[in-house]
Amino acid sequence: MTNATVSRFVEQLADIGTLVPREITKGKTTTKIARPVYTRQVVTIVGVKTTASRFLPVSHAGYSNETYVDKVDLLGKRRAEFIGRKLKGIERRAHMSLFRQMTEAESGSNWREFFAEKFGKECTIPDGLCIACWNCTLFGGLEAGKGATFSRIRYFDTFSVEDAAECIQSDESPEQMAIGNTVGEDLAVERGEASFHRYEYVKAGTRFPFITIIESPTLLDVAGYLAAVRLADQHGYGKYSANHGKFTTDFVAVSTGYPLFSVLDMLVWLEDGGSGGLEGRLRFEAAVDEPVTLSGSGLDELRDRLNEEFKAYIAALNVSSGDGGARKRGAR
Ligand SMILES: [Zn+2]
Repeated sequence: MTNATVSRFVEQLADIGTLVPREITKGKTTTKIARPVYTRQVVTIVGVKTTASRFLPVSHAGYSNETYVDKVDLLGKRRAEFIGRKLKGIERRAHMSLFRQMTEAESGSNWREFFAEKFGKECTIPDGLCIACWNCTLFGGLEAGKGATFSRIRYFDTFSVEDAAECIQSDESPEQMAIGNTVGEDLAVERGEASFHRYEYVKAGTRFPFITIIESPTLLDVAGYLAAVRLADQHGYGKYSANHGKFTTDFVAVSTGYPLFSVLDMLVWLEDGGSGGLEGRLRFEAAVDEPVTLSGSGLDELRDRLNEEFKAYIAALNVSSGDGGARKRGAR
């Protein structure tokens, strides 16, 4: 992968300035809101996530004493299902935590103060979104009375490559379901059968291919996404994520085109061989120009641009709030 290829990739992305919120004045109040950006650019990120611990992909909240892994019959197998909404929720939180850490490292100020000054409030997921910050412009948000910003990141549901009979620990497997304490257990009551919780889980070593698309992507979005996934893998994706649902992620390709394949195609290709056989089969198509596709060291190079791009973002925010601040002070 040459530097020239990485440069051509970066040339097809949106400008960092698109992440700076615009100011809207209604009467005497000025609020900040993410810019609506609709360029025709996209970036597609393709990879394979492999469980590194027990994983409970559960899309519903349950209060019973038993928890079952979401499953679906697909392409001749029963498979564990990992829904896109769950991927997005965990990765959004990881992205926010990365964003806060980088803000403190770069601005030297407490992130709460920085967020309040630049975006009008501390941004908290899911109920106190600011709809102005980098995280909100990427993942979308809604604030009553202020407005909404659409998500620029698209997730897809994914499924285990392995059959449920091999990859899910259930009552049908010799070791049966696992046993834990109930989350809402009343510790004052003597323990009985009812205080235990039985659960199925996806075993370590199970593979889930994924496709994520970012619309109107900046280089900061792409490098930040790659870093946030690493954090999310450590945090965990499933129920009881304090000690469950850890993953390792193999990023196979990042392209400035739309994928001409689906997660279902990837399931079939992965059954034929490892992720090594995947790369040569991925085809992309761009709305503008020829798509540029990076893998291996090209991907590492993108990830290495994170700090530099974050500095550019902070600088762009400071320029815009510097002007806005002067106007506001003058008006008083
Ligand atoms: Zn926000």
